[in-house]
Amino acid sequence: MAVILISYDYYLARKELFSSAKMIANATVMELDKEFSVVQSALMTLSTSPSISHGDLEAFQVQAIQVAAQQDVLNIVLEDSTGRQILNTLKPFLRERYLAREITSPISLGGGKEMQVSDLFQGPIARQLVVAVSIPVSAGKNPYFLSAGVTPKRFEQILSLQKFKLNWIVAILDSSGAIVARSHDMSRFVGKKVPPNTLAAIRNSPEEAVELTSIDGVPMVAVTASSGKSGWFVAIGIPQEYLRSELNRKFWFLIFSSTVLMGVGLIFSLHIGNNISQAIRELVTPALEIGGEKVIPHKVFSIQEANEVWQALFNTSKMLQSARYQARHDSLTGLANRALFCEFLEQQMEICTRNQSSLSLLYVDIDNFKKVNDTHGHATGDELLIAVSNRLKSVLRKSDIAARLGGDEFAIVLIDADNENAKLVAIKLSANLEDSYYLGNQLISASASIGVSSFPSGCTDSQTLLLYADEDMYRVKSSRRENTETSTSIDALKIN
Ligand code: GH3
Ligand code: MG
Repeated sequence: MAVILISYDYYLARKELFSSAKMIANATVMELDKEFSVVQSALMTLSTSPSISHGDLEAFQVQAIQVAAQQDVLNIVLEDSTGRQILNTLKPFLRERYLAREITSPISLGGGKEMQVSDLFQGPIARQLVVAVSIPVSAGKNPYFLSAGVTPKRFEQILSLQKFKLNWIVAILDSSGAIVARSHDMSRFVGKKVPPNTLAAIRNSPEEAVELTSIDGVPMVAVTASSGKSGWFVAIGIPQEYLRSELNRKFWFLIFSSTVLMGVGLIFSLHIGNNISQAIRELVTPALEIGGEKVIPHKVFSIQEANEVWQALFNTSKMLQSARYQARHDSLTGLANRALFCEFLEQQMEICTRNQSSLSLLYVDIDNFKKVNDTHGHATGDELLIAVSNRLKSVLRKSDIAARLGGDEFAIVLIDADNENAKLVAIKLSANLEDSYYLGNQLISASASIGVSSFPSGCTDSQTLLLYADEDMYRVKSSRRENTETSTSIDALKIN
């Protein structure tokens, strides 16, 4: 991209440079033509002088000398169509030298409007390089020419008034390619002709920039403009070396700026990349913890997307935790369910085996629970189940666990408790469960039968342990039933 930008920028800058040079060349040509017009006007005014129409050449010469001085031209010459001079302001007036009769009346001057501009030539009388600006005049049948000699200095002044860049080489060339004025080393090159191929290049490419070598051997690219009035040219040459140095300058500037930009971009992307990778690394821990027991801890990241990923992990973690909880707990009472209970029981049995310690199991079944449902409704039955579970929890130590195995059946693991201790706990718990329950607006009495089994005495696995406790519970229930055959174990008392 940088290379394309540099090339395009250079192309644009070069185009603009040449178009501004071309505009200045055109403006210089206009100034040149203006100078010629000024001289032409002076000559035309002079050609209407009455002294020439009366054949008074002496008076005409005096007037011509005045006009030459006013117009800052070297001389004014009147010559015939063969080039023979009839009058030259540089020479004193000698009547016999002029063929006065040829221009005696009737002489009609002032008719010629077509100006002619000569190329630069060595004036035979002026003895210096001069350009003749001429207008045709007619005297009777004979055509004559009134000319003004303009020195190269006048054209040098035109160049000095234009705003050229210092390293541009500007030249005014006549139609033959001779240098009339030049911005650099004018005295050295005035009158010298540019090589024919240079002149041909200037002539053939009026609109395009051309590559050429200046008369002092400098390779350059030039734009030209030609004067319609004179057939002369103004050429502005821009040295190739300057163009190259401009290109180099731009090139290095663009290389430097794009390097700086790329460097800054790289630093930014490293910074952003670091932030992203750090955030991703920090997300690894919560992602690993997503399946853990706890909901992942809160964290704030510097990147919005990382916060969104964390939020998604957090939601999933919560969902997983809730699903895990539901899978291992009873939804009504919040106690462990059978699966969690069995898992815990097996773990504890292993620990007991290792530590040669003991544990006991209490199997609890509410007596006549169906009746509660039937008498007070299913919702009250549920409330009773919750109340029973709360009482179970209240008698537990931290190391013990209670579970709802299903329906109105509960189980408790008592760690480090042998059969004797467990039976004591069962009696205490049984008494606790027989206290009335205040559910809704009703006082409900309930009781439960509790069976006990212990590990390691007599059994080796959790299911057998559970079975023993269950059997014991049935044994207790049967004996309680026998004892309270006529009594009702569940009573409901309405308050008020
Ligand atoms: P027993 O003294 O022989 O234990 O008699 P029981 O009426 O308690 O009989 P059993 O334990 O076999 O019946 C338990 C009843 O509990 C059966 C079922 O209708 C009821 N039940 C089971 N699950 C729920 C529950 O989630 N909510 C309520 N309200 N009742 C339940
Ligand atoms: Mg029951």
